[in-house]
Amino acid sequence: MNNFDYKQPADVAEAIKSKNDHTGNMFIAGGTNLIDLWKYNLVHPNSLIDTSLLGELSEITLLENNGIRLGATVKNADTAYHPIIEDKYPLLSKAILAGASAQIRNMASNGGNLLQRTRCYYFYDSDVPCNKRVPGSGCPAKNGYNRMHAILGASEDCIAVFPSDMCVALSALNATVNIQGSASKRVVPIGDFHRLPGNTPEIDNVLKSDEVITSIDLPEKGFSKNYAYLKLRDRHSYAFALVSVATALELEGNTIKEARIAIGGVAHKPWRSIEAEQFLCNKEATEENFSAAADIILQAAQGYGHNDFKIKLAKNAIIRNGLMALNPSSQLPGAAPSA
Ligand code: SF4
Repeated sequence: MNNFDYKQPADVAEAIKSKNDHTGNMFIAGGTNLIDLWKYNLVHPNSLIDTSLLGELSEITLLENNGIRLGATVKNADTAYHPIIEDKYPLLSKAILAGASAQIRNMASNGGNLLQRTRCYYFYDSDVPCNKRVPGSGCPAKNGYNRMHAILGASEDCIAVFPSDMCVALSALNATVNIQGSASKRVVPIGDFHRLPGNTPEIDNVLKSDEVITSIDLPEKGFSKNYAYLKLRDRHSYAFALVSVATALELEGNTIKEARIAIGGVAHKPWRSIEAEQFLCNKEATEENFSAAADIILQAAQGYGHNDFKIKLAKNAIIRNGLMALNPSSQLPGAAPSA
């Protein structure tokens, strides 16, 4: 680790100004991924600008449109266990609690969850090339050990996946990300926040260097009656998803009036197929129809050898999670799912 300064800004404007003082300055909130990156010698902050003490980013508030605002520095655990989230947005609560460990969820911030970096093993090994770490150096994962890697939206330059669980649910719920820069504020739909790798895999998302996430908004509709989150991984806890699925349904009887399906662990961002969701509209919520929707979602899926199994796993997970969403109480807390 290098020597560094530590700063506690008084407000968001001062935080942004402090960060902009030097290209090596970085924000820290929970630090749960930043410290990993630092220990692996992948980042060398000049100054850490601590946003965790900024009261304006640390609240969960109701919005006039009956949605809810999640402050960027609210801890993941406090979000998951907030009574309104548990009651109105249980899909989000369940997804957050499927991620990491209790200790990490107690430290990790909502904004940091969006900004976490891939867990590609090659990315964390500074002795090997990696286009995301050193642009133009190559991607050893493509022909290497790629069990965790992408089956959708990958590029010649990078086949990494985005590891968040929380963001898969935020994607299904059509969340928006509130961003403040040195000169202005803007709002970005969660589906546009993370990028596919293309030929610039070093850029994970659309946040600019002089911007900070201030909060995340959820619209009123929480799909609390029919939802399910399924995370499939190599062990029951504290492991990243091989495939995860967030399903939110609005039903009339057994007829689907609206469907949202977001997939995690398969791409450089949470993956949604509007075509598949529209296919399900006004159809019966049956295994056959969820299977057909899965085929639409996965029509462009491609494996790279070790991760070929993910295509079948994703299809089974989409079907199973669709059926679980019909009866959310069938999702036992902490139950180890299998596909
Ligand atoms: Fe690097 Fe992406 Fe290739 Fe992993 S998949 S080695 S992050 S370029």
